[in-house]
Amino acid sequence: MYEIAVIGAGPAGASAALFAAKAGKQTLLVDSDKGMTRRGRYENYYGIAEISGPELVDIGHQQAVKFGAELVKDQAVKLSKSEEGFVIETEGGTSYEAKHIILATGVLTDLAAAAGVQTQDGTEPRIKTVITVNAQGQTNVPGIWAAGTVAGVSVHAVITAGDGAKVAVNVISELNGARYVDHDVLKS
Ligand SMILES: Cc1cc2nc3c(=O)[nH]c(=O)nc-3n(C[C@H](O)[C@H](O)[C@H](O)COP(=O)(O)OP(=O)(O)OC[C@H]3O[C@@H](n4cnc5c(N)ncnc54)[C@H](O)[C@@H]3O)c2cc1C
Repeated sequence: MYEIAVIGAGPAGASAALFAAKAGKQTLLVDSDKGMTRRGRYENYYGIAEISGPELVDIGHQQAVKFGAELVKDQAVKLSKSEEGFVIETEGGTSYEAKHIILATGVLTDLAAAAGVQTQDGTEPRIKTVITVNAQGQTNVPGIWAAGTVAGVSVHAVITAGDGAKVAVNVISELNGARYVDHDVLKS
């Protein structure tokens, strides 16, 4: 049983998984690698002068894995409630159980909708449907959260990555029962 399973490993999902794993949570990251991020070239990502989409995605995956997230390259095809959390079934025929789910599926809302997660019309250019979330990133299904493009934020890599981190911090805080911060201090 994972504490947090993230579906989708673009900037939103990989950033969420990085924070979750670095906080010591048992973290699963399931990704079909069909996102939009690899197709871009980024000159507006704060702190990085310029980076290609493939590099941004690959470094993000490496960071999440470095802190202990388990990255599975597969497509989640079904999400359903279990006694203690949720079961994710994949195209590859494996199933995983997790207490909390973070959906970071980019432009895709089909998995969420089939699991009873509420969706609404998108407001951003070319984003037709998004998951309805509150300010914390919670959906209408307790334990299912959403982040990034699929949660309706502005379609920019730095914003989706930040949203993934925000939602992960909220899930970690709920699991810990206290607000969580991840601050590493520079050694002098
Ligand atoms: C051509 C292009 C150029 C761009 N240029 C810029 C730019 O210059 N600057 C900028 O800030 N932004 C740019 N963007 C936008 C930027 O790429 C996105 O805002 C951001 O990266 C989206 O991140 P995300 O994590 O929300 O979604 P995505 O990166 O789309 O990630 C979603 C992930 O979820 C996975 N997924 C979906 N469903 C499932 C499932 N059921 N099971 C498993 N995995 C699943 C997908 O395979 C994918 O890997 C550009 C976009 C494009 C297309």
